[in-house]
Amino acid sequence: MSRTLLIVKPDATKRKLIEYIINRLQAARFKIVEKKELQLNNSQARQFYAVHEGKHFLDSLVKFMCSGTIVPMILEKNNAVNDLRALIGATDPAKAERGTIRFDIAEDIEKNSVHASDSNANAKKEISFFFNK
Ligand code: GDP
Repeated sequence: MSRTLLIVKPDATKRKLIEYIINRLQAARFKIVEKKELQLNNSQARQFYAVHEGKHFLDSLVKFMCSGTIVPMILEKNNAVNDLRALIGATDPAKAERGTIRFDIAEDIEKNSVHASDSNANAKKEISFFFNK
C-alpha cells in the first residue's frame, strides 16, 4: 500500500462536487485515510506551490486556491501516486482523456477541480503540509 494526497479545489467545492469526487475515488478503490476542509491564506498557498515560483500562472493560481474551501485528503492504494494521476487526467481538461475526473468536471487549465501529488517524495511532503503525518 502507498499513499498520496488529493485536494478538491475551490471550483469543485463551490459546485458541490466533493461527494461526487469521493465516489469516483472509492469506485477506483482508493481508501480515504483522513480528510479535512479548510481555506488557505495567501502565504500558505504560496508555500504549497513553491515549486512553481517564477511561473507566469503562480499569482493567479494562488488567488484561485485561496478563493474558497478546499478538501485535502490522504488516499491509500497500491501504486497510489500513479493511479491517482491517471484517474484525474491531464492538467488541461481540454487535453485530459475521456473518463478522467478532469475531463468530466474541470472548468479550465487553472480551475481543474483536483490536485494530486506527482511523486512519492512530493506525496510525503504534501501530506505533512496538511496533516500531522
Ligand atoms: P498538475 O500537477 O496537473 O496540477 O499541474 P502543475 O503542477 O503543472 O500545475 C499546478 C496547477 O497550476 C494546475 O493544477 C493548475 O491549477 C495551475 N496551472 C498549471 N498550468 C497553468 C497555466 O498554464 N495557466 C493557469 N492559469 N494555471 C495553470
